[in-house]
Amino acid sequence: MNARPEEIVSLLREKIEGYDVRTQRAETGTVLEIGDGIATLYGLQEAVYGELLEFETGVQGMVLDLKRDTVGCVLLGSEEGIKEGTVVKRTGRPASVPVGDSMIGRVVDALGFPIDGKGPIETTETRPIEFEALGVVSRKAVTVPLQTGILAIDTMVPIGRGQRELIIGDRQTGKTAIAVDTILNQKGQNVICIYVAVGQKASTIARLRNVLEQHDAMDYSIIVAANASDSAPLQYLAPYAGAAIGEHFMFQGKDVLIIYDDLSKHAVAYRALSLLLRRSPGREAYPGDIFYLHSRLLERACRLSEEYGGGSMTALPIIETLAGDVSAYIPTNVISITDGQIYLETDLFNSGQRPAINVGLSVSRVGGAAQTRAIKKTTGTLRIDLARFRELEIFTQFSSDLDSLTQNSLEHGKRLLEILKQPRYHPMGVARATVILYVSTNGLLSDIPIAQITSFAQSFADCIEKQHSDVMETIEQSGDLPGPFIEVVRAALEEFKKQVGSWQA
Ligand code: ATP
Ligand code: MG
Repeated sequence: MNARPEEIVSLLREKIEGYDVRTQRAETGTVLEIGDGIATLYGLQEAVYGELLEFETGVQGMVLDLKRDTVGCVLLGSEEGIKEGTVVKRTGRPASVPVGDSMIGRVVDALGFPIDGKGPIETTETRPIEFEALGVVSRKAVTVPLQTGILAIDTMVPIGRGQRELIIGDRQTGKTAIAVDTILNQKGQNVICIYVAVGQKASTIARLRNVLEQHDAMDYSIIVAANASDSAPLQYLAPYAGAAIGEHFMFQGKDVLIIYDDLSKHAVAYRALSLLLRRSPGREAYPGDIFYLHSRLLERACRLSEEYGGGSMTALPIIETLAGDVSAYIPTNVISITDGQIYLETDLFNSGQRPAINVGLSVSRVGGAAQTRAIKKTTGTLRIDLARFRELEIFTQFSSDLDSLTQNSLEHGKRLLEILKQPRYHPMGVARATVILYVSTNGLLSDIPIAQITSFAQSFADCIEKQHSDVMETIEQSGDLPGPFIEVVRAALEEFKKQVGSWQA
């Protein structure tokens, strides 16, 4: 070919002028610094927050910090082989997790990969880990109850589907126990349960999985675990990954229950990560955006309106306090984000009142709208009676001769507290709860010795189940306790008391 030199020059010039250097530079970058699961990258000017990056070694990372010249990224895998100068590529995709029905029954890590040794999970769909919660227009009021099966909660701090209720208390006060019992109670209720474990021991997770398996609860549950031995970025991501997995079901119109155990450790992981990213520490050394960390997570739990499928995601975040201090930074944040809290107390726990729920400090701001009619009807003045009892108890601790009215109030309160005691793994159905509540709140058990009251109430509920199954069925199906059945229960109680005369004091 005999092209003239001028032609070649002009061709080359054209090519050079048209060459888009900018995009090339923006799509790839290099590692400046690496350590503690965090990489500082140069280049990648176009990278966006939350974007997935890919290192030469095949490991992925997620953008979490955008500075003028550099990008801060957390590694989602091993640091091995990555050093200064390693090339990083943008993927243009947000970090995401696999979602779908095949996740049910599995234990996965913060990126949705199975860690239960049951082989790969067959899914075709993914969802972004970070997702902006839908606005109020696409939501609907919370009116359908989510039964925890725990008498003290279902009666006094009712939880509705789509609600966010905080479980808060010191260490070893039964926080996880409440969450797990709630999962067990969802059997046959068409609720998919997701348990997100942050910063716990792998052995604790294994034990939890065993418990769920023994109670056939893994059939409708997923465990997302970022253990204490996992890196801070993975512990930070796990709750969002869990939320993404739950959203998939929620947008299909299903009901989801998600537990974050616990957000205190989540905040600590985020603090570690932020300090490594050299963000300036604020109160308690947490970064300035720590409120947003939890608000954007919990805001994703909601009940969708019919146009959006009517699904719901109920969130039960857990917060661990130090010496009952609810006014610390993270507890106050999460209290203000959620729709109420279940407050657990060490003193109550140690005195044998388990679940150790402090009735005075526990609230559910969604309230009675999401409570089964039968329970609402029979709960009556339980809360007030207990409050009065507490007051009287303190007031009368040193006085010996009390008038009969005070004495009766005290006796009644003691009996109610006794009835509210409930062992682990024994969630109570609505029908049973209604019957037991009815007879105890109406003072029908005042002639039973306190030490025997729980077993008496349980055997009475058994008796109703056997001999008056229609009562139980009606409550289960209609969620109500009609007047005529109240008479049946009263009559059955008289009969039952006669049969077991030895119960009588
Ligand atoms: P941590 O702070 O370590 O996470 P936690 O607050 O989650 O603790 P759990 O692990 O749920 O507490 O419970 C602590 C202990 O109390 C466990 O040994 C558990 O068996 C016991 N426990 C919890 N609830 C009850 C209950 N209702 N009846 C009897 N024992 C209970
Ligand atoms: Mg726990």
